[in-house]
Amino acid sequence: MPKPQTARRAAARPMNPFEMALEQFDRAADILGLDPGMRETLRRPKRQLIVSIPVRMDDGSIRVFEGYRVQHNIARGPAKGGIRYHPQVSLDEVKALASWMTWKCSVVNIPFGGGKGGVICDPKSMSEGELERMTRRYASEISIIIGHDRDIPAPDVYTTPQIMAWIMDTISMTKGYSTLGVVTGKPIAVGGSEGRNEATARGCIVAIQEAGKKKSIKLKGARVAVQGFGNAGAICARLLWSMGAKVVAVSDSQGGIYGSGGLPIDAVIAAKEKTGSVRGYEGKSEKISNGALLELPVDVLVPAALEGVITAANASRVKAKIIAEAANGPTTPDADDILLRKGAIVIPDILANAGGVTVSYFEWVQDLYSFFWETDFVYAHLTKTISRSFGEVWKTAQANKTDMRTGAMVLGVARVAEATRIRGLFP
Ligand code: NAD
Repeated sequence: MPKPQTARRAAARPMNPFEMALEQFDRAADILGLDPGMRETLRRPKRQLIVSIPVRMDDGSIRVFEGYRVQHNIARGPAKGGIRYHPQVSLDEVKALASWMTWKCSVVNIPFGGGKGGVICDPKSMSEGELERMTRRYASEISIIIGHDRDIPAPDVYTTPQIMAWIMDTISMTKGYSTLGVVTGKPIAVGGSEGRNEATARGCIVAIQEAGKKKSIKLKGARVAVQGFGNAGAICARLLWSMGAKVVAVSDSQGGIYGSGGLPIDAVIAAKEKTGSVRGYEGKSEKISNGALLELPVDVLVPAALEGVITAANASRVKAKIIAEAANGPTTPDADDILLRKGAIVIPDILANAGGVTVSYFEWVQDLYSFFWETDFVYAHLTKTISRSFGEVWKTAQANKTDMRTGAMVLGVARVAEATRIRGLFP
C-alpha cells in the first residue's frame, strides 16, 4: 500500500484543482524518479492565454467576459481539450483541466497534448444570440493559438455541438475556407463523427465493465448512482439502465432523486427535457442532495459533474466498490488515499472519461481525411482503446503497488517524458 503523501500540503484547506493535479503528478514523478528539470518542465503549462470578450447583450449594453485557453503540453502532438462555460471557471481550473488532458491523451496513447479553455459566464441566463456572439468573439480571440495542427477544442461543461459549430464557422470565415478539423464534438452535418455524442459515456461503461471483472460485479443488477446529468452523466445513466443496471440515483445542479428499486432513466431524461431538472421526474422517488448521492449504498458511483466532490470529509462514507470518474477531478488526493484503504477501485478520470477525447481524435482524423466512418467502426475502436488502456493502467498500478490513478499517471507521464527527452531541449 502506498504511503499517503498529503503531507506535501501544510494545512488542511480546500485544494484548488491545479494543486490537486500537481499532487497527482508528483506522486507519479516520484515513482518514475523524474529528474528536477523534467519534473519542472512537465508541471508547468506551456502557454496560458487570457482574453477579454466584449459582447453586445440583447438589451444593447456591452458586457465584457473573461476567457482562457491553456496549452499544458504539446510534446506528443497538438493540444486537445474542451471549453467550459461556467460562472466558477478560473485560470487554475483551466490549467488543471489542461494538464489532465495531457496525461489522458497519453494514457490512451493518442497523438495529442493537453489543452483546455473556459469562459466565466452563466450560459443558462444568456439568450442564444448572446451565447453565439460571445462564442464567436471568444473563438476569434483564441484563434491566434488554436488550429487543426496546433490546438483543437471540444465541448465540456455547458458547451454543446452547436457551440462547436459556431467556433468552426468563425475560424473558417476568417480563413476564407472551411476548416473542419479546428474543433471536435461538432454536429454530424458539419464534420462531426458518428458516436462522438455518446463517446465519453460509452468509454466509461467499458472501464466500469473491466473494473467489474476485478471486483466480480456484473453490470446487470448492479446498483449505481450518477452525479451530473449532462453529456457524460445522462448518457452513462441511460446506457447502464439499458444494460440492466439499477440506476438508483441521479442528480444535476438542482439536486438529486433516489428510487431504491431503480429509476426508469428514459422517463427521467424526458422529465429533465421538460422541466430543466431531474427533480421534475414525477414517478416514485425521493429528493436527495448531491452530497447524499455520493454516500448511497451502491456498487458503482459515477461522479459526472464537477471537480472536488469526494474529499477527505466524505470519502470514508462513500460505500461504492467502483468509482468511475466520468467527471474530471472529482476526487481529491486525500480522498484517494481513504478510498484505497477501503478497497474501492477508483477508475481515474484520465481513463474513465477518455472515451470522449478518443472519439474526438477519430473525428479529427476523419475531418483531415474527409472520409467518414460508420458508427460500429467508431465504437469498436473506442472499446478496444479503453479496454487496452484499462489493462495497461491496471498492470502499471499493480507493478508499482499503487492505486489506479497513480498507475494511470505513471503511464501517462512516462510517455510524455520520453517524448520530451527524445525531442531534446530547444535551442
Ligand atoms: P454538461 O454540461 O453536458 O452537463 C453537466 C451536468 O452537470 C449537468 O447535468 C448539470 O446540471 C450538472 N451539474 C452542474 N453543476 C453541478 C453540481 N454542482 N452538482 C451536480 N451536478 C451539477 O457537461 P458534461 O460534458 O457532461 O461534463 C461533465 C463532466 O464530465 C465534466 O467534469 C467534464 O469535464 C467531464 N467530461 C466531459 C466530456 C465530454 O465529452 N462532454 C469528456 C470528458 C470529461
